This record gives sequence, structure tokens and C-alpha cells, in this order.
Amino acid sequence: MAKLMVIGSGAREHALAETFLRSADVEEVIVVPGNAGMQSVGIRTINHDMMDVAGLRDLAEQEAVDLTFVGSEAPLIAGVVDVFQTAGLKIFGPTQQAAQLEGSKQFAKDVMAQAGVPTATSVMVTDESSALQALKNFDLPLVIKQDGLAAGKGVVICRDREDAETMIQLAYERQADAPLVIESYMAGVEFSIFSLVGPNGVIHAPIAQDHKRRFDNDQGLNTGGMGAYSPVRWVSDEIVQEAIRTLVLPTLATMAARAMPFTGVLYTGVMLTDDGPKVVEYNVRFGDPEAQVVLPQLQSDFYELISTLLAGEQPKAIWQQDDVYVGVVLVNPSYPSTTTEHIDLPSFSIADINTFYAGVTRNDDKLISNGGRIATVVGHAATTSQAQEMVYEAIDATQTTLAYRHDIGYQAVREENKVVSGDAN
Ligand code: AMP
Repeated sequence: MAKLMVIGSGAREHALAETFLRSADVEEVIVVPGNAGMQSVGIRTINHDMMDVAGLRDLAEQEAVDLTFVGSEAPLIAGVVDVFQTAGLKIFGPTQQAAQLEGSKQFAKDVMAQAGVPTATSVMVTDESSALQALKNFDLPLVIKQDGLAAGKGVVICRDREDAETMIQLAYERQADAPLVIESYMAGVEFSIFSLVGPNGVIHAPIAQDHKRRFDNDQGLNTGGMGAYSPVRWVSDEIVQEAIRTLVLPTLATMAARAMPFTGVLYTGVMLTDDGPKVVEYNVRFGDPEAQVVLPQLQSDFYELISTLLAGEQPKAIWQQDDVYVGVVLVNPSYPSTTTEHIDLPSFSIADINTFYAGVTRNDDKLISNGGRIATVVGHAATTSQAQEMVYEAIDATQTTLAYRHDIGYQAVREENKVVSGDAN
């Protein structure tokens, strides 16, 4: 029987732990640092700083962990995989070099260019006058991004030149050599492909769509993610296969050719444009909240699947085909501001509703909210509309004062309604 360690503290890591626990060969999953919500459902957590990668290695040795799965990007970019591998410990994730696909936008663009992978035209600048000069070569709208990790919220879509210039001036007021990427805007439908990659095998999960904006109808600030659904049936299998063939596989081949083969979860953010699928960005781990709607669909043994990949073989994976999974993220009302509120957590006793915990702490016997994203509530049903209805009925019935979007999955619901009314265009 195997003992596993999952690194991270959010609802994604909770979903990873639950997925591993469905394996008959898994005795225990420890989540580091985890959260109080996971503890409340019997998952052991160890409160250790996940950026202390040497400390994590020591912990894995002390606990005689058989396999470590890294949920979160920061320890990957800090080199946790290299440190574990040097100590002869089994770990699933990319090396520090390969994790640059997420850690550096410039590195990612270089790999895309070498791989011939379609993406937005872009230039990287590190001073104000070059930035203002470069701006002239781009049509509107255009996109300005800060390079480096945790810059996801530093992406701005500029619809007029004055906005773009102000944004650049502000960036260089804050940091005189700020690395900025100026990029052409891609219009289209966005979806995410999660590929589980081993040295000689790859499994692609059902695609997902997330909802980054804070409020309904995609209004308000970008957040870490307010909800997601999967599969996305209105994006055809031919398109998904084309994206895998033209975007994902050439990326993996190029990483191998650069002598930094990618192992772990490659998350390809795809924009389906009029000219076909293009890459928006790569991440080197599962998305959160996408993991919470993708992982419950896996019918195969997750531990066996990851072990087979790490052994250099090609596993088989079976995913459910019947339902659509809709996940709604509950947040503190002030989110994405960092003000901390303490609100009682709702509990659900409905079969087929799963709760994955994130920013949760304990007050005596009660779970209370403690930070931005609090939990992901997931329901599933034969159609997106039914799954959406079911999950919102469950959440509304709790009368929780935590905030949430009311329209997760709206694109798919709109497409389903078109089909029902016979208006397929
Ligand atoms: P990133 O940090 O690169 O993932 O960007 C965050 C989000 O900004 C993406 O998920 C897209 O919705 C949007 N975005 C980024 N780059 C572009 C682009 N070139 N064209 C259109 N939307 C973009």
C-alpha cells in the first residue's frame, strides 16, 4: 500500500488528494501544507512551507512517502522536482528548467517559435522608451503582460493607445527595468488542455473552460478563477485533436530536443481563433478550479496512471462520458481584495455535490473562511444546464453569505439552448 504526498493548499490539492484516495493501492495521502477543510474530511495535512524545497524532501524521507505530486507552480519553479530526484525520491512534475514554460513568458515564446506553434505575435521589453516604441507596431486591441511568476493578474487588454501608454508608464514607475511582453490580441473561444506527461507516455484529460473574471457576464477584475466546467462539448473533438497535434505535441517534442524533457502536467491555454487553435500560455500544473471538475471524471486508478507514466510507459485512461461537471468557487465577498473575513462555511449533504476546500480555517468546531477563494462546489448532470441548476440550487439553499458567480458554464448553456431551439448557428 502506498503513501502519497500532495504539495499545495487549495481546492485543487484537495481534489488531487481525493482522486488518489480512490485508488485501492493508496493507503494515505498527506497534503503539505493543506488546510483545515481537508482535515475536516479526514485528510492528514502537515503545515510546512511549500517553498522550502529541501524541507519538503526531508519530510518525504521521514514519512517514507512513495510518490509526491506537486499541485502548485511556485515549488516547481523553485526546483522541488530536481531536489527530490537528486535524493532518489519519486515525484511527478517538471524540473526547474522545464517549469520555465510557466515561469518565463519569454522562454515559453522561444519554445513556441522553435516548435512552430501558432501564438500571438509578441515582443519583450525592459525599458519605457522601447516599450512605447514597440507599441507602434501593434494594432488595437493589444495585450500587455508582466513577465515572471504570479503575473497572471498582470495581464491587461488595451483597447486604446492612451490606455496602453498609461499602463506602460505605470509599470516603469513601479520598476525601472520591468520585463513586459507586448502582444497582439487573439479573439476567439478559450479552453484548457491538461496533458499528463511521462518520459514515454502522455494522457490528455477532457478539456475545461474557466471563468477568470470576478462577476457575472465576465465583468470585474481577473481573479485566480471563479468557476469552471468540463467537458466542453461544444468544442468538437476534431478541434481538440487538432490542438493536441499542432500545439501540445510539438511543444513536448521541442522540450525534449532542448534536452529538458517535460514531465508532469502541461496545461495548454488555447484560443480557438478564425485561423485555428493558438497558444495563449502554458502552465506546468493543473488549473484551479479546472482540476476540481476534471479529476472527478477519471475512472481509472490515478496512482497507477501516474506510476505507469513515471515508469516510462504509456498508460490507458478512462474518463466518464455521461455528464458535465460544473464547479462554482465560493469566495470572501471582498475578493480579489485581500481583506480577510471570517464567514461560516456552508455544508452540503446532497449526494453528487462535492466540496473541495481552499481558504478555510477552524474556529473551535466550526470551519470558517480565511482568505480569498474558500471552496469549490461541484455538481454533475447529463447537460451543462442541469448541472448548473443543480449546483446553484444546492448553494442557494445554504443561504451562505460567501460570494460566488451565478453563471458558471454559461457559454455551454447558451450552446445547448441553441440546439434545443433548433438554432444551431
Ligand atoms: P496569461 O497570464 O497569459 O494566461 O493571460 C491571462 C488571460 O488573459 C488569458 O487567459 C486570456 O483570457 C487573456 N489573454 C492573454 N493573452 C491574450 C491574447 N494575446 N489575446 C487575447 N487574450 C489574451
